[in-house]
Amino acid sequence: MEREVIEFDVIFVGGGPANLSSAVHLTNLIHKYNGDIASGKLTGNAIDIEDKIAVLEKGAYFGAHNISGAVLIPDVLSELLPDHRELGCPIDAEVTGESTYFLTKRGKIKVPYTPAFLNSHGNYLLSLSKFTGWLSKIAEKNKVIMLEGTAAGEILYDVSRVIGVQTDDKRLQESGEYETPGYILNSKVVVLGEGSNGTLRKKIVEKLRLDDNRAPSIYELGVKEIYELKSNPLKKGECIHTLGYPFRKGLSGGGFVYCISESQVVIGLIAHLSSEDPQFDPHRELQQYKQHPFITDIIKDGKPTHYGARTLPCGGYFSIPKLTSDGVMITGDSANLVDSRRLKGLHTAIKSGMLAAEVLFDAFRRNDFSATQLSQYEERLKNSWIYSDLRTGRNFTPAVAMGVPFPGGLLLGYQFVAGGATPIGDLTINPDYSTTRDMRRYYGDKSPVPLPKADDRIIVSK
Ligand SMILES: Cc1cc2nc3c(=O)[nH]c(=O)nc-3n(C[C@H](O)[C@H](O)[C@H](O)COP(=O)(O)OP(=O)(O)OC[C@H]3O[C@@H](n4cnc5c(N)ncnc54)[C@H](O)[C@@H]3O)c2cc1C
Repeated sequence: MEREVIEFDVIFVGGGPANLSSAVHLTNLIHKYNGDIASGKLTGNAIDIEDKIAVLEKGAYFGAHNISGAVLIPDVLSELLPDHRELGCPIDAEVTGESTYFLTKRGKIKVPYTPAFLNSHGNYLLSLSKFTGWLSKIAEKNKVIMLEGTAAGEILYDVSRVIGVQTDDKRLQESGEYETPGYILNSKVVVLGEGSNGTLRKKIVEKLRLDDNRAPSIYELGVKEIYELKSNPLKKGECIHTLGYPFRKGLSGGGFVYCISESQVVIGLIAHLSSEDPQFDPHRELQQYKQHPFITDIIKDGKPTHYGARTLPCGGYFSIPKLTSDGVMITGDSANLVDSRRLKGLHTAIKSGMLAAEVLFDAFRRNDFSATQLSQYEERLKNSWIYSDLRTGRNFTPAVAMGVPFPGGLLLGYQFVAGGATPIGDLTINPDYSTTRDMRRYYGDKSPVPLPKADDRIIVSK
């Protein structure tokens, strides 16, 4: 196939919050720099970015593939765009109240205080899809080439140096051939922000052995539904987090209920994929969760209107791979930067994108896109609050996976007072698949309990 070749300076693969923040921050820095040169404040040459920076998003539009809770810690957004409110940032509500419950099969125990790391007071509640769409418009205004509906299918190398990407071929014909060949996009730097467990990220980590001597990447699956309610017992901005039911021995995670408007609530579960149950299905667990009287009471006269699922990396501190190599940088969830303790990865995604942008800005000014220059990104991350926060939460996921309240709960309690340490040292992170039992060992003579028939009210068909 003959492929068109286009030259860029920077290609962002993935148009999620990490890479869009990076593109916006980079171009804001460059526009300010060029302005300072034009006004005589600075001397030097202006940086030409016309047709030089692009974001590739495989979704049909920016925001099409983004799903989150979503509670956003606003500080980092204020750092990226201090005037985000004036720029029309789509905020649904601010968190006004929060509570944490431990659920038994039918009952609930209110946790007397919300741990500081779950404190979301004043944070923004928003639709990540709308937020991403909004950020993409700012990047476009800043003269970034926005290529939606375009997936990067392969990374292009010169030996081990990344030199660009090839986009996917389109329109598969009956003959087995594609009508529209993908493009070859050459670039000085490729920034991979594909989200959780991205395809190109997975390949490059393996090829360049970026995860040597790191703990394995492990994952949670977040499932979420939005309910439209006739009468809403919660107040707009109220956030509830739950532990316990439907999680049980060999299955760990947590639940959340966020009230995003007078008539809408978001209900979801984040379940670790390191389950012992070979029939484990987070959708099914969410339906069980909604049958708990505490949750049913909230949604009983409502109707589900939206639903979705997506994985999150939860290995945190110990499983962050090497994040730069010659010609490439990795941001956001692709870099395993989710803070599982806080159930949040948006703030770390945005901040990592900003740090990558600052290093790229220096690269443009010095005309130095070498591996040494790009490695500054990793240094900046290590010196940022992202690393210190993830370090404090380093034993959270493996402790939860051991079972709450016993014995994992005791280890969690210890961590809160010991800055993340446990009395038995740092806990081991095992690959998700290694915990799965076979059917006979897990279920014995029993079968998995079937779900009641879908009623599209409480029970939603998968
Ligand atoms: C159910 C759920 C609830 C959550 N709740 C919260 C919360 O309340 N607060 C919070 O802070 N975090 C929350 N998170 C985590 C948060 O959503 C992520 O940490 C954040 O979205 C990561 O941003 P990102 O840009 O790294 O990745 P993503 O948001 O996943 O964006 C990556 C983008 O890259 C695109 N892409 C991937 N591969 C390619 C390719 N090869 N070519 C082109 N495009 C590609 C994808 O389509 C996607 O648009 C939640 C996650 C889930 C699943």
